[in-house]
Order: sequence, then C-alpha cells, then structure tokens
Amino acid sequence: LVRLENVQKHFGALHVLRDIDLTIAEGEVVVVIGPSGSGKSTLCRTINRLETIGSGRITIDGKALPAEGKELARLRADVGMVFQSFNLFAHKTVTENVTLGPIKVRGIGAAQAGKRAEELLARVGLADQGAKYPAQLSGGQQQRVAIARALAMDPKVMLFDEPTSALDPEMINEVLDVMTSLAKEGMTMVVVTHEMGFARRAADRVVFMADGAILEDTDPETFFTAPRHDRAKDFLSKIL
Ligand code: ATP
Ligand code: MG
Repeated sequence: LVRLENVQKHFGALHVLRDIDLTIAEGEVVVVIGPSGSGKSTLCRTINRLETIGSGRITIDGKALPAEGKELARLRADVGMVFQSFNLFAHKTVTENVTLGPIKVRGIGAAQAGKRAEELLARVGLADQGAKYPAQLSGGQQQRVAIARALAMDPKVMLFDEPTSALDPEMINEVLDVMTSLAKEGMTMVVVTHEMGFARRAADRVVFMADGAILEDTDPETFFTAPRHDRAKDFLSKIL
C-alpha cells in the first residue's frame, strides 16, 4: 500500500534519510523506533509530502505523490496523520474539528459529515463531547479527537508520530487503546512510539532507525529478543 524506494533526504549537509526502502502492506501495523534525531519524524513527514525528498520514490496505492496542487491534496488526504502535539483548531468545536476536512477536501455534505463525526467520536470514546472546544478537554481526549479527525478523511493509512509523548502518564493508555483497536480492525498504520508495550501487542513489524537508516525491519518477537545490530541492542537496553 505504501512503498518507499531508495529514498534519500538531506537537510543541508545532514543526511537525514539514507537509502530508505520500506513497504507497508494493507492492514499492516509498523512501529518505528530509534534514538532521537534518527529521522523517524522526517520519515513520517515524507510519506505525505510534508517534506520533499532528494531522490527515490514514494508511492501510495501504486500512485506517486505529485509535488503540489489539487491532486496532492487528494492523495495527502489518503494519509491520516496524528502528531505529538494534537494540533486541533482551538477556535472550533470538537465536531467542527472532525467535519472540516471531509467537507472542504472530500466535498461531503455538512449533515453527512456531522453524522460521521458522531460515529467517530463515539468510536474514540468521546460521544457527547462534540460541542466542547479543545481547551475544555484533557490531553488524552484531545488526542482522541485528533485521531477521529484523521479517520474522518477515510485515510488508507494512518501515521502516528509519538502520539502519546506529550500526555500525562494516566492518559497514555486511553490513546493506545484506541490505536490498538484500530490496528485490530485492520487499519494500515505507521506508528513512531517509545511505548514498547504497544509495539509488542499491536505491531506486525518493528522498524529500527539510527542516523537516518533502517537497521532492523522484523517482527516484534525477533526484534525484542534477538536484535541483530549493536545500535538496536544498545537502544533496547536503555529503554526496556
Ligand atoms: P525525535 O525522536 O527526537 O523526534 P526523530 O527520529 O523524529 O527524533 P527527526 O525529527 O526526523 O528525528 O530529525 C532527524 C534529523 O534531522 C535531526 O538531526 C534533526 O535535527 C534534523 N532536522 C529535522 N527537521 C529539520 C529541518 N526542518 N531542518 C534542518 N534539520 C532538520
Ligand atoms: Mg520525531
């Protein structure tokens, strides 16, 4: 469904993505881990063209992402993204946050978008919260709104970049639970996270990055019990 081939990216002299090859099949859950600065966020951002790439190829559902224009907006809408900071529209209600994209980008009618928003908010455990503003919600609730908002676009793949890193500990699980059920329902997901419990529980594959390169790409069991690279062993010894 998502394919990166020989992707290279530099920020000036810094080689942030080194010859990345990554294929994500439909329904697959890929957890990306690695030390700070290894390029995990940049990888996510290149997948939906928030960042350009120097060379290589990225396709989603067989289609290359165009650099700009209407077509890019449409293809980008196929990729849902959830960030560490929830990035909700502060001056819009929860329901408006969820309906805005479908109405503007997908051209869906307001009534239908509203109905869908209700369903999605219920699905993330926030039924009856639609009239509130983001500031009236906890961090965990805001992040679940952000997930509902991304789902409202009917994405083919969901990218999560450290979705629980900004949350108080007691709110982490409510977000991970939503993500785990999405994974079980067959959503294709790329998840950058330090939550190793989630990786063990929900991942089909673990990708380990260091210095812009993918060093390991394997099943969680193998990764956690028998990592091949010293960098991965070292990382695990610090985090587990
Ligand atoms: P973290 O775990 O801290 O989120 P990361 O693995 O997500 O790290 P990236 O944010 O992808 O890492 O950054 C990879 C490298 O690229 C880092 O060295 C970072 O400083 C650099 N970098 C990221 N964005 C930019 C930018 N817009 N301009 C210049 N350098 C950048
Ligand atoms: Mg990052």
